[in-house]
Amino acid sequence: GSSLDLSAPAGVASAGRIPHEGLVMSRYAPAETEMKWQTAWDEAGVFTARRDPAKPKYYVLEMFPYPSGRIHMGHVRNYTMGDVVARYKMSCGFSVLHPMGWDAFGMPAENAAMERGGHPKDWTYGNIADMRGQMKPLGLSIDWSREFATCDPEYYGQQQAMFIDMLHDGLVYRKNAVVNWDPVDMTVLANEQVIDGRGWRSGALVERKELTQWFFRISDYAGELLEALDGLKDWPEKVRLMQANWIGQSRGLQFAFSTLGAPEGFDRIEVYTTRPDTLMGASFAAISPDHPLAKHLERHNPEIAEFVAECRRIGTTEEALEKAEKRGMDTGIRVRHPLDEALELPVYIANFILMDYGTGAIFGCPAHDARDFEFATKYGLPIHSVFRPLADDTALADLVPTEEYVPLKSERVRYIRGFAGDEVQTGEEGVAAAIAYCEANGIGRGVTNYRLRDWGLSRQRYWGCPIPVVHCADCGVVPEKKENLPVRLPDDVSFDQPGNPLDRHPTWRDCACPSCGKPARRETDTMDTFVDSSWYYARFTAPHAATPTVPEEADYWMNVDQYIGGIEHAILHLLYSRFFARAMHKTGHLPATAIEPFNALFTQGMVTHEIYMTRDS
Ligand code: ZN
Repeated sequence: GSSLDLSAPAGVASAGRIPHEGLVMSRYAPAETEMKWQTAWDEAGVFTARRDPAKPKYYVLEMFPYPSGRIHMGHVRNYTMGDVVARYKMSCGFSVLHPMGWDAFGMPAENAAMERGGHPKDWTYGNIADMRGQMKPLGLSIDWSREFATCDPEYYGQQQAMFIDMLHDGLVYRKNAVVNWDPVDMTVLANEQVIDGRGWRSGALVERKELTQWFFRISDYAGELLEALDGLKDWPEKVRLMQANWIGQSRGLQFAFSTLGAPEGFDRIEVYTTRPDTLMGASFAAISPDHPLAKHLERHNPEIAEFVAECRRIGTTEEALEKAEKRGMDTGIRVRHPLDEALELPVYIANFILMDYGTGAIFGCPAHDARDFEFATKYGLPIHSVFRPLADDTALADLVPTEEYVPLKSERVRYIRGFAGDEVQTGEEGVAAAIAYCEANGIGRGVTNYRLRDWGLSRQRYWGCPIPVVHCADCGVVPEKKENLPVRLPDDVSFDQPGNPLDRHPTWRDCACPSCGKPARRETDTMDTFVDSSWYYARFTAPHAATPTVPEEADYWMNVDQYIGGIEHAILHLLYSRFFARAMHKTGHLPATAIEPFNALFTQGMVTHEIYMTRDS
């Protein structure tokens, strides 16, 4: 026949040779054949990406690996996919860029140093050498001349240069933020690192602590990042949906309670609500333990101080707050109901309210919110229904916005035309009517809000990119001069005690103020490793340049035509990269055409172990 018969591998294997059209092929000997051809490819430089304006280009990229120590079948599968695409495009006449690098900063290297001794740098570069040694014999069509690790000073120095540009352009800033603090490891924990209220590594009860932290202003781009998802036609629908949910656009009402008996300067409490249609059922107001009013009261009232301190011992995660018993303390302050000035509501400090979500203050409507119901039942607060759900079994709600209900005309719920009508309406219609009513009557205004918070990038860790700023007693926070970059990590550090080794290094912190020249101190926080992976795809277009990117290279090679990686990165890595590409464009490091850096995305599955089933299932 004229086609290969692939259905009889057993016979082929036993014969030891493939009889085919008279051609006799000896048994495939990978060690010899692969070595021979890989050497030939290397010598000919067949996988070296060359910018050739006469040819169309194709950029295929798999998410780069973390150098954990050895490659596994998941890596092989991932990089084989890119290999197939790259070879196909090469054979079609494209200039192909198919690079490889290492996402090399992060906690595991530091943990290894703490647990087994040694240095994170040695551990990391040792792992990279091992993994490169395992990967190269696979014969992947990779341009190894572009290889870098994010822990190379040549890479993170360029990242520091961009950080300074972004600081100048207002894309990064400092503010006080409440963080999850691990009192044993003496570090800030990401929400994902808090498990049942405890630090994932130390097992210590996590505390809330206020620290001055650096933030990327990603929330300014929330609307744009959401809208642009529609244009990503070659991304999986699932990933676009996950990003949209994470950005979390909502339409709601912003209004202010006027206070009675509050300290000076606190005559109003701002509230944002996505359910203004339930406002008439408010029976209390509540503020976060981190709300400015709570902090004020804390300083003057020992009982409140004690309660607030207790609240801070729960982490900052939504999950932790969800699980914790709902607790509150009546401040003695009252607010007027905005729809009926005669009604006064108590103001509680409540442990389940996050300061960085909305305004850090809520109104409680126990009839239509399960959490408020739990709270009201516990503290004997009244429960006023505003409407009756059409489906009887959802009498007590947490109504979804699309659900229909009939507004009630009870004694407490005054009938306000346009706000609560007689007709059946959906929650969405009720919300729109409530916003219109409140705007018309000067009670509040409709606001589009996003769940997406600014991206906190400070880590109290050694093995990361140093944040290139200096603290001067006279000048404040001053960016390091670009000619002094990279701000290198010191090698002589110890991991025999918890906390950030940069903090206790005897000399590394000492430097001259870049502005006035007087003695000053370096920032000891390093960057979240997600920063490193938010622009590596752009760096691959000019991996050895003395600037973060080179315009003609970026113009030619960007965007990534096909990106391949795990679904676990569907939200943070991809969202941060989309933001970072925009920030790089704003600071002159990427063309406008590259603000959506990945044209097509393929999320491969996972290689898992065998599964077993019973015969009758
Ligand atoms: Zn100074």
